[in-house]
Amino acid sequence: CGIIGYIGEIHAGDGGAASDRAADAPGSVGEIVHRGLKNLEYRGYDSAGVALAGPTSGLTVAKRSGEVDALSVPDVPDATLGVGHTRWSTHGPPTDANAHPHTDCAGDVAVVHNGIVENYEALKAELSDHEFTSDTDTEVIPHLIEEALAADDGDDDLLAAVHRVEDRLEGSYAICAVREGDDRIVVARRGSPIVLGRGEDASFVASDVTAFLEHTRDVTYLEDGDVAALSPDGVEIFADGEPVERTIETVTWEAD
Ligand code: GLU
Repeated sequence: CGIIGYIGEIHAGDGGAASDRAADAPGSVGEIVHRGLKNLEYRGYDSAGVALAGPTSGLTVAKRSGEVDALSVPDVPDATLGVGHTRWSTHGPPTDANAHPHTDCAGDVAVVHNGIVENYEALKAELSDHEFTSDTDTEVIPHLIEEALAADDGDDDLLAAVHRVEDRLEGSYAICAVREGDDRIVVARRGSPIVLGRGEDASFVASDVTAFLEHTRDVTYLEDGDVAALSPDGVEIFADGEPVERTIETVTWEAD
């Protein structure tokens, strides 16, 4: 249903009182992602979750069914990136286990997904040596990424792995993938909207621009088939594996 992602310079975590921060400081990664989820609530959802990552803390996932306010976003003081999801179930009931993000067997890769993987049953059968912990169509994606990262004929790179996995998925999706030890958010879309936000020393991604409009109004809409790698200093976009330029637009309207 809803996606928000943020990657940027390290911000003071909850350890510092909010009053100690500059008035315009965006807060910790967890706070930014949590606020993004709140901004997406109006779309309707049944579950929410986040994945946060930092250079020393690894990947931390928290998710549950119910309201965004019921989700306790973990305090990861060195987090430099995070993704969040509000789920509107299509495959599997709204349970904690079915909430996004979904991870691979090792817990090194986390994925949030909007849309439907139509061929997930066939893919799941193919991944019979992987342990699945949810009933969702989505969970095949992190496991396929794990396979692609380990493949002899691939390179051990998240962007390349997501690109490979795209060829396997039927249906519609917007996905964000993150990996422990990798300072990027990798984004892909086909059939589901996704927009990138370009801040100063920070990049954003969302299913809907209102999720991050309080941080930046400079946005780039991805086209179908695009894959993008977000880092604090910018965005690289690829179509058919080749780098492409996409227009940066400035949003002029005000959110309610
Ligand atoms: N098909 C996925 C699920 O049921 C994603 C649904 C959504 O777009 O929120 O978990």
